[in-house]
Amino acid sequence: MAFIHRRGLLLGAAALGLGALTQRAAAQTPVAAPPAGPHTHAPLPYGFDANEAAIDARTMELHWRFHHGAQVANLNRALAGQDAFAAMPLDELLMNLSRVPEAVRGAIRNNAGGHANHTMFWEIMGGQGGEPTGDLLAAINRDLGGMTEFRNRFNAASMGVFGSGWAFVTVTPSGALAIATRPNQDSPLMDGQRVLMGNDVWEHAYYLRYQNRRNEYVSGWWNILAWDKIAARYGAAMAGTLRV
Ligand code: MN
Repeated sequence: MAFIHRRGLLLGAAALGLGALTQRAAAQTPVAAPPAGPHTHAPLPYGFDANEAAIDARTMELHWRFHHGAQVANLNRALAGQDAFAAMPLDELLMNLSRVPEAVRGAIRNNAGGHANHTMFWEIMGGQGGEPTGDLLAAINRDLGGMTEFRNRFNAASMGVFGSGWAFVTVTPSGALAIATRPNQDSPLMDGQRVLMGNDVWEHAYYLRYQNRRNEYVSGWWNILAWDKIAARYGAAMAGTLRV
């Protein structure tokens, strides 16, 4: 009896061991590390807490590290073996999506769009809000009805995005400012426009602090804008040197 009992225990242990090994093998099923390039995930230009007035540090970290980070990794994966497209700058790639092989077009659309959108998004925040001056303010007055009207229209556009997407101010090829929205990670760069600024209204951008209250996020977001950075983007757009 004792012998059988011990043998049972041993078999049980062996079975457990095998189970653990199988589990470990499953956990280690190779997921190829993403290629190191051609696109890179740049560090945030400020600390995770720099936008605390509107966006909490934990949201900033999760958003930058995991959401944006995964898009860069998945973009590089999708570009593996696509030498002509891998060699293109991000904006050129987004303008040439229709030429991308169908098998990887969806992945490249989502991840290249997301990479461009988030790169712009980090760049224009980290400031103290306020209002722009100079040429940019003149363009806002000319094309968007002045700052109050602009804020109202932009907030309404942000609230009108159903599900996940973005609100943008674009610079059209003729140099005019316009408000636009796009679903998912689409970018106005796909239509040959330039992006002056934009707000991410995916829930991951605001849910920890605001839950379903997108309106509070959208109105508070103006308090962390860096108008000097946005003005520099405007100058670059007018000079034809703005990329994403
Ligand atoms: Mn996002």
